[in-house]
Amino acid sequence: MMTSGSGNASRAVLGTWPTPLEPMPRLAAALGFGPDDLWVKRDDLIGLGGGGNKVRKLEWLCGAARDAGATVLVTTGAPQSNHARLTAAAAARLGLDAVLVLVGTPGSPGSGNLVLDALFGATVVWAGDVGAEALKATAEQVAEELRGRGAVPALIPFGGSSVVGARGYVECGRELLAQDPDLATVVTALGSGGTMAGLVDSLGSARVLGIHCGAVADPAHTVAGLVSGLSGKRCEPETLRVRLDQVGDGYGTLTDQVMAALLLAARTEGMVLDPIYTGRAMAGLIAAVREGDIVPGQRTVFLHSGGLPGLYGHPQTLARAADELTVGTVSG
Ligand SMILES: *Cc1c(COP(=O)(O)O)cnc(C)c1O
Repeated sequence: MMTSGSGNASRAVLGTWPTPLEPMPRLAAALGFGPDDLWVKRDDLIGLGGGGNKVRKLEWLCGAARDAGATVLVTTGAPQSNHARLTAAAAARLGLDAVLVLVGTPGSPGSGNLVLDALFGATVVWAGDVGAEALKATAEQVAEELRGRGAVPALIPFGGSSVVGARGYVECGRELLAQDPDLATVVTALGSGGTMAGLVDSLGSARVLGIHCGAVADPAHTVAGLVSGLSGKRCEPETLRVRLDQVGDGYGTLTDQVMAALLLAARTEGMVLDPIYTGRAMAGLIAAVREGDIVPGQRTVFLHSGGLPGLYGHPQTLARAADELTVGTVSG
């Protein structure tokens, strides 16, 4: 297993670094920006398991699990959790078992991320339609039962968002500065918070705009807590740039703004976004441009944090996309 040290923590290398930073000139033009004003950080292209932002966090979380002698990774999530899918992929890569404790009940046909969970060989434990606390309690019970059978479980936090996991995005911020010293704003989806927290730690709160996706109750508070843990200094939630306007009817639902963002990115740049995270982040970016919070002439980077498998597990988006299909005719 490849590792590299950093202080007293070690890192299990799971991706190929750095990820590319690419211009988006046609999307920039559509938003009234100059061709050099809008770029995308391709964390969807991290190689492991379909890619996405959770790989950066899992490198540190799996390093810690390995240091603790773990034989099985246990984590939690929604049925279409990208984090659970990538935990299963990381376990496969590292020769560990994975148990995914997911919200919901068995019976629904597997699609999207669940198909990949199955391919990676993970065990799924359905926790029922429960809230965050009960989900965590079920994961702890699963870990206890695994210990009773002689296994050594490592509990990977919800979304990979602990101070340890967020280190992956402290590094991403440094990677971005090396690729683009003129960076003015990074726009990221805000789910469990570790991605934004890491970026704020390395880039400063003024340069990071987080778009809340409805995964946690108090997103600014959640991110501020992680930033405080990373830096050792208290971070006040009010100092963070967080948009709350893209959640719509809740985490799992598709909004018209998100559908418009999916279509715009696909039709200007051939870039696929997902309905839960990156679609909301792009809709938030568009809203921020409209309001003058993000302006032409300053370099804006959109973090593409992955999530494509989730699109294939989201019936509402699949139906709306089918409506967009242009059917041509042929004469003769
Ligand atoms: C989890 C996730 C996010 C949000 O990252 P957090 O660190 O949980 O805030 C964004 N995009 C995708 C595709 C994700 O899976």
